[in-house]
Amino acid sequence: MKFNTKTIHGGQHPDPSTGAVMPPIYQTSTYAQSSPGKHQGYEYSRAANPTRTALENNFAAIENGTHGFAFSSGLAAIDCVLKLLNPGDEIITGDDLYGGSYRMFTKLFEKYGLKFHFVNMEDASNVTKYINKNTKLIWLETPTNPLMKIADIEQISKNVKAFDKTILVAVDNTFATPYIQQPLDLGADIVMHSATKYLGGHSDLVMGALMVKNEELAEQIHFIQFAAGAIAGPQDSFLALRGIKTLHLRMQRHSENGLAIANYLASHPKVEKVYYPGLENSKNYMVAKQQMKSFGGMVSFKLKNNSKDATFKVLESFKLFTLAESLGGVESLVNHPETMTHASIPAKEREKIGITTNLIRLSVGIEAIEDLINDLESALG
Ligand SMILES: *Cc1c(COP(=O)(O)O)cnc(C)c1O
Repeated sequence: MKFNTKTIHGGQHPDPSTGAVMPPIYQTSTYAQSSPGKHQGYEYSRAANPTRTALENNFAAIENGTHGFAFSSGLAAIDCVLKLLNPGDEIITGDDLYGGSYRMFTKLFEKYGLKFHFVNMEDASNVTKYINKNTKLIWLETPTNPLMKIADIEQISKNVKAFDKTILVAVDNTFATPYIQQPLDLGADIVMHSATKYLGGHSDLVMGALMVKNEELAEQIHFIQFAAGAIAGPQDSFLALRGIKTLHLRMQRHSENGLAIANYLASHPKVEKVYYPGLENSKNYMVAKQQMKSFGGMVSFKLKNNSKDATFKVLESFKLFTLAESLGGVESLVNHPETMTHASIPAKEREKIGITTNLIRLSVGIEAIEDLINDLESALG
């Protein structure tokens, strides 16, 4: 099946008991057994629930994996991956991460004895520099949030596996989605999503996903999910499955609108710099072009005026773009990383990587491009 068919049919079958074409919302915690231990594959909904199973099969299909897992949030999915590790293990990750991932790594897992190296992943050799016998996981985000840096998934995976095949490569694929790039095909072992964003696509749920292509790893992840308990509920599983059916159509429009807005901003007199992997002058454009089918709907930019007043005035002037955290819904959102999504990163770190006061991040929706550009035009003044 091609991707555009998998979003709709991947892992899906009519419900065996009724023939329902859409999976029913199995709002149940437990399942009748005819004799102790004799059941129809479901015992208790923390272990498995049929609505979640339908979603998890679809998750696996869209990322070209063999197994998918639905969690109560994106962070719960990342938490599960880190629980594969042991005290003393080392992780190499990016220096421009989603704020919540950075907070989890530094505030939670460092105290359990994991060691994190934060490096600029734009250059694959930065990863190789930190590999040693304790390295157990590479955690990649590409494009990054909010500076849209691009890491070469295939090159990094190749380098890491050449050193030691057992080092896991995991990719947070939230920004790109499998419509744009499929990390498992590029050599990664684990794909993670905040399904809250593009997979759900309608800003109406919080959920995380993991996809893998290896039986043994799938068993370990299922054990942690079952033992720690951060599962997605049946109602949210239904909503996510419904959202994914239009993922390809939405991503196509997100990408068209994203590119149009990046180009518009790049020639605006009040804009100093635009961060979008589809701009030819962006740093890893050739890698992006190779690795990504299109460039998505996330666009960041810096105003020439770096004052808080000027930046806030722009942020308060949007009429169509809603000032809010999160991203990936059909509606356009605008966000101020310094005070909103990335406030949990220490000011010194933010400064170092370039999250400054004048940085604005857009999640470009699927509305008419003329209306979006008009809104930007009036907000920029
Ligand atoms: C939102 C987000 C997360 C965290 O997901 P939640 O669903 O909010 O827990 C992780 N990574 C990226 C890139 C995100 O945008």
